[in-house]
Amino acid sequence: MIESLKQLRDQALKDLSAVADLEKLDELVLKYFGRKQGLLNSILRSLKNLDERQRKILGQQANEVKIEIWHLIDQRRQSIKKAGKKDFVDLTIDGKNPRLGHLHPITKIRREIEKIFREMGFAVMLGPEIETDYYNFEALNMPAEHPARDMWDTFYIKSEERRAEDGEKLVLRTHISPMQVRVMEKLTPPFSVISSGRVFRHEATDARHEHTWDYTEGFVVDQHVSLSNLKTTLLDFFKQLFGSKTEIKLRSSYFPFTEPSIEIIMGCIFCQKTGCSICGQTGWLEMGGAGMIHPTVFEHAGYPREKYSGFAFGLGIGRVAMLKYDIPDVRLFYQNDHRFLSQF
Ligand SMILES: [Zn+2]
Repeated sequence: MIESLKQLRDQALKDLSAVADLEKLDELVLKYFGRKQGLLNSILRSLKNLDERQRKILGQQANEVKIEIWHLIDQRRQSIKKAGKKDFVDLTIDGKNPRLGHLHPITKIRREIEKIFREMGFAVMLGPEIETDYYNFEALNMPAEHPARDMWDTFYIKSEERRAEDGEKLVLRTHISPMQVRVMEKLTPPFSVISSGRVFRHEATDARHEHTWDYTEGFVVDQHVSLSNLKTTLLDFFKQLFGSKTEIKLRSSYFPFTEPSIEIIMGCIFCQKTGCSICGQTGWLEMGGAGMIHPTVFEHAGYPREKYSGFAFGLGIGRVAMLKYDIPDVRLFYQNDHRFLSQF
């Protein structure tokens, strides 16, 4: 009997230390002092089976334990009230790490690219992903039936109801270059603009190609803009992105809306131009296209003939992300696999 009184007292002390609010405390009162199920009362009830002398001694001890537990419960109640139900923090409970989201690696790279160009004085402007045939092709020196349209496997929007207000055919933009004309129609030179977003092409995917991907295009229009301005701007950009030792070369290329057109290649950052599997043993990596804006594009924008000149360049953001993070397959960025994305 004495032993079970002692156990009861120890148990009560343990229970009390775990109680954090008044509700739980009331449950504890019932557990120990409840009229029928209460642990103390059931001990007191069993006293009647003892002889008078034992009953007197044990009864007194049971009473002392009862008073002590009651007193402790009361103390606990006061301290909980004092701490305030809301402010009470139980420091004994294990912490839980909140699950934090983070930016997609493509978004991170896009912001980094935008930051560098912003610091060079470029404005960031956005355009529509669904574009008219006019802005996507015609205004960029590709009238209907122009063979250069075959350079892009285009997604056309079929439905007759879904045409632009003037009845023009709609396409998912195949590049960001339509923004050149859209911006020129609004602004008077000089201006420097970059525009980023998704572009779409109906093509088979592989480690370096996706049907939907992210692209950044930049263009500068002013009087007397030259190809060397283009090269300096790009070199400055690539150095900021990949380090001060980065080298670039411009190689002849073809786009209908630039003349001359060039391809930007960068000294391989993995092998320092000695040749590796990433650069195909050439020491150089293809980074994007560029060129001097074609006079026909200025004409479509309504600029006076030969008053302005300008350059434009385009970069695949996925391509930059692959190099920055050393990722072998661009499709990984778009598969939404958390095991992949959570690394960034
Ligand atoms: Zn290499």
